[in-house]
Amino acid sequence: MKTIGVLTSGGDSPGMNAALRAVVRTAHTLGHKVIAIRLGYKGLIDNDLKEISGADVSNIMQRGGTILKTARCDEFRTQEGRSKAASVMKKNKMDALITIGGDGTFQGASLLGKEHGVNVIGIPATIDNDLVGTDETIGYDTALNTAMQAIDKIRDTADAHDRLFLVEVMGRDAGFIALETGIAGGSELILLPESLTKLDEVKSSLNNALSEQKRSTLVIIAEGDETGGAIKLAEKLKPDFSKYDMRVCILGHIQRGGNPTARDRVLASRLGSAAVVALDEGHSEVMVGVVNNRIKVTPLKMTFGKKKDINFDLLELSRTLR
Ligand code: ATP
Repeated sequence: MKTIGVLTSGGDSPGMNAALRAVVRTAHTLGHKVIAIRLGYKGLIDNDLKEISGADVSNIMQRGGTILKTARCDEFRTQEGRSKAASVMKKNKMDALITIGGDGTFQGASLLGKEHGVNVIGIPATIDNDLVGTDETIGYDTALNTAMQAIDKIRDTADAHDRLFLVEVMGRDAGFIALETGIAGGSELILLPESLTKLDEVKSSLNNALSEQKRSTLVIIAEGDETGGAIKLAEKLKPDFSKYDMRVCILGHIQRGGNPTARDRVLASRLGSAAVVALDEGHSEVMVGVVNNRIKVTPLKMTFGKKKDINFDLLELSRTLR
């Protein structure tokens, strides 16, 4: 029997609860004990933990957020903080730690493993989808659908008033949400951090779209696009497009919330279970992912060291279809 600690860390994403449920249920099936840590690495350092039962994870699969709560923890970025975390693990006789989070969470986990020989397994959960080693991260599909539904509503009002809308979606470093919601929402232009945005090209694309007398024009911008986001872009476009009714909408945190989609629940269930199985198989300092519909185990340090490629064919497709 192993004692496994589990925590959620960094930004929350829909499906974290489903992943937790799968960790707990699989661990119990395999005869292990699970200790739930509240508030991510902060809770680990503060010894904020308790054993979690199968009943504790009943009826949580469909809930957004995380019942364990999550936090950003600067103390864990220091060697001293990580030493405290390792000694809490030792005191509570934890054999391994399962961390559910994004690239920052895995950078921290990797250091904890390197400095203290702690066995850590990562489960990728971030709406940004920016981790190498899995086709999709937990929460991405839900965020996409939330953003798409919001864009559909914006399209209705934009159409009714013949408006030009600049819609900003989440993605500080990655344009996955912008790219796929842009296509799903039929936007006229998609601006991503992964492709250089030239203001002249934006203006001429908009002029083309507007001259085709469409009733409404939507531009989807990732927050990390080098134009500086929707508000800054609107300021730059204003002098040339003053005769149009231009509006800005920043979708913000609604993209993080909500019940996870079926796809995210299935992904979270698979990955939560795979993390425990990976531990049993003797893996250490790895992230579990799904690649081409199969479970894949990737060394943690490879998941954040490299930028995940965007599918430029989709960007091309959006240009054809606009
Ligand atoms: P998201 O992608 O949703 O923002 P994330 O896991 O990347 O999730 P971060 O805030 O970057 O979120 O990281 C979560 C926590 O992981 C941080 O608060 C910190 O405690 C720890 N962490 C992040 N980067 C490092 C690092 N370089 N060294 C040590 N710990 C780190």
